[in-house]
Amino acid sequence: NLNYFEFVFGDILGQGAFSTVQYAKKIHRGVMPSKWKEYAIKVMEKAVIARQNYQPNVDREIAMMNALSHPNITRLIGVCESEKFLYLVLEYAAKGDLHSFITRMGSIELSSARVLASEIINALEAIHSRGIVFGDLKPENVLVHSNGHIKLADFGSARYESEISPGERLEGTAEYMAPEVVKGGQQTRMADLWALGCVIYQMLAGRPPVWSEFVEQKRARDDLFGKIVRFSDTTPAHDKFPASFPEEAKPLLLALLHPDPSQRLGAGGFSQIKSHPFFAGIVF
Ligand code: ADP
Ligand code: MG
Ligand code: MG
Repeated sequence: NLNYFEFVFGDILGQGAFSTVQYAKKIHRGVMPSKWKEYAIKVMEKAVIARQNYQPNVDREIAMMNALSHPNITRLIGVCESEKFLYLVLEYAAKGDLHSFITRMGSIELSSARVLASEIINALEAIHSRGIVFGDLKPENVLVHSNGHIKLADFGSARYESEISPGERLEGTAEYMAPEVVKGGQQTRMADLWALGCVIYQMLAGRPPVWSEFVEQKRARDDLFGKIVRFSDTTPAHDKFPASFPEEAKPLLLALLHPDPSQRLGAGGFSQIKSHPFFAGIVF
């Protein structure tokens, strides 16, 4: 059987510290030469992975994506390698990530944000039900498909909750870190729900609840951590939102951005979040 295929690489879709994600067409040659399909290929340089001791993260990323099959989670189609590179072949999200979406639109209107949020919640529920903490929920890791549906991506920081050492902090992004994590407490699934609050907030306000103007890395991180603790523990509720922020969303966000993870919305299960009045009328 002479049916074979090749991947033809196209534009760069995104770039991270350890990877470059490129558009690719899988083109069938031989028996059905006109058939092709789109993918996104996450290319990682083996030397960089080795130098940064990132191999365990890559192994987990592959294993977890492989184990998860959900309409709101990016599917890992396969893994290939060459001498120098590792390639993760992923389902392609034609509308890019939610960060560029928000940047382009300024913000997202409430009715759309509600639907997008419900899909992120479905993805998180599938992840948490397997005992996994996602660890890096942020708009850059929320992809938008051609049909407008959401697919969570990037399991490079994800960990089994039972395997997180006491006081260990996952390699997440400072802006979205929960106050208990910032303070050196235990990182649990509840930290993902804080980040969920940040993402919904960002969809509506165009920026996350806490961010930093400092460019320089170390100072930015310390500055942000201080701001997160202040936002969480001392800023009064009415000062937590910009002037034009939709009133209907505030109770949900105050509940998700609760300083105490054991009191945070979702601590009693995802049904708490899904049955919140904010999601009235949404079919999960
Ligand atoms: P990293 O682990 O380096 O952050 P990601 O997996 O988050 O890598 O991918 C980096 C960026 O590449 C994303 O923020 C997104 O913009 C783009 N990207 C990743 N996967 C896809 C995909 N399947 N379809 C379209 N764009 C993608
Ligand atoms: Mg990412
Ligand atoms: Mg990653």
